[in-house]
Amino acid sequence: MTQNSQNTQQNARTTAGVVIVGGGQAGLQAAASLRDGGFTGPVTIVAEEAGQPYQRPPLSKDYLAVSEDGSTPSPLPLRGPAFFAEQDITLLSGTAATAVDREAKTVTLADGTVLPYGSLVFATGARNRELPTPGIELPGIHGLRTLQDAEQLGAALDTARDVVVVGAGFIGLEFAAAALARGARVTVLEFAPRPMGRALTPLLGDWFADAHRQRGLDLRLGEGIASFEAGDDGRVGFAISTTGGRYPADLVVAGVGVQPNDQLAAAAGLETANGIVVDAALRTADPDVYAIGDCANFPSERAGGPFRLESVQNATDHARHVAAVILGEDAPYRALPWFWSTQGPYRLQMANIVRADDETVVVGDPDPANPKFSVFCFRDGVLAAVESVNHPGDHLSARKILAAGIQITREEALAEGFSLQAAFKERS
Ligand SMILES: Cc1cc2nc3c(=O)[nH]c(=O)nc-3n(C[C@H](O)[C@H](O)[C@H](O)COP(=O)(O)OP(=O)(O)OC[C@H]3O[C@@H](n4cnc5c(N)ncnc54)[C@H](O)[C@@H]3O)c2cc1C
Repeated sequence: MTQNSQNTQQNARTTAGVVIVGGGQAGLQAAASLRDGGFTGPVTIVAEEAGQPYQRPPLSKDYLAVSEDGSTPSPLPLRGPAFFAEQDITLLSGTAATAVDREAKTVTLADGTVLPYGSLVFATGARNRELPTPGIELPGIHGLRTLQDAEQLGAALDTARDVVVVGAGFIGLEFAAAALARGARVTVLEFAPRPMGRALTPLLGDWFADAHRQRGLDLRLGEGIASFEAGDDGRVGFAISTTGGRYPADLVVAGVGVQPNDQLAAAAGLETANGIVVDAALRTADPDVYAIGDCANFPSERAGGPFRLESVQNATDHARHVAAVILGEDAPYRALPWFWSTQGPYRLQMANIVRADDETVVVGDPDPANPKFSVFCFRDGVLAAVESVNHPGDHLSARKILAAGIQITREEALAEGFSLQAAFKERS
């Protein structure tokens, strides 16, 4: 293709504009980054949820707490109210995209509107995985993904006495810690032998199991959910586990993972496999269609293959990258994954993805009463990932070191007086 025809195509894409399907973390950042990068064409966000787009992480943490004056916190918006007008970004909220015609390059919305696009970005996120458990339809059993879910749960915690959480993943444990702080008795049922087993090193998973139990959480590992039984009032009354345990439950939260929202892309003929399949530029097989955030399955050098991540970092870094690609850049996506989770008094932060066979060493003080430590993860004798509990200094330095590709050997890292902060200063 000649330079002239490339320019003509780029101009046509700009004139038709960018349509972003999904008004969450990734969608809003993509719109903002397009404007930051100088994109002058129309930018439209189609958002199924009504109202102002908001941040999800507080929903399972601060949003469930009641302040000393008895008031409940407000949702945190992703952008201020003036943002959309100032940036000339059209937000169509409370309306879903229902079809994509890639030949005609249009998106059809639930209200019949047809939007043309030059570039289309799927930022459709994920939805809670549904439990196929008998009794799941009983009132009092909830998921936790949206503001509406969190509002209902916050209100339910005013009166709940016996809470059962199904799944000891991040959201399940965050909610469990919040429910404990609100005075409920809390049982967590987890089929696997460790909490957060897919994401943490076994060492840190075991530490969290112990720490949560010491704070009063009844954490049942190796015990899944078998069924729910109604109480006398017709609402959920008991959770029955796979090992026959029968736990009182006037409130249940199921946190058993999510499924990517990739149906619209699949219906448009795009490849999906645990998410919308994209290349290293976050582009689908259609050169004008991209996918970012929770819904995207992308090739990850760091994970060693196709990968889908559910995190704010992934959503925002994907969004920045896709905006740059739409604006003409051509580099592969390589951002360092990082993550945080707040579970009661424990702030967990992770830099890079851990692997099951990483060698792990605890550095710092892991006493659950007042912990401040990191787990250094070594791969082939070199620092490859760091998990930190209540140690943001280590976390931030680890992110900088790993993102910059600075090699720190096991011997260096475990030498007397070593600190990640100092190592970064010396080596950068
Ligand atoms: C309770 C909770 C706590 C969390 N805590 C943390 C945390 O502590 N740290 C962290 O890093 N991450 C956390 N996460 C994960 C993080 O919030 C997500 O990874 C992030 O929001 C993903 O951004 P996204 O834009 O890909 O998806 P989302 O933010 O989910 O946005 C996708 C949006 O697309 C909309 N949509 C879907 N289909 C359509 C359609 N057809 N038309 C129009 N709109 C559509 C959806 O309604 C949704 O609003 C948490 C998530 C939850 C639910």
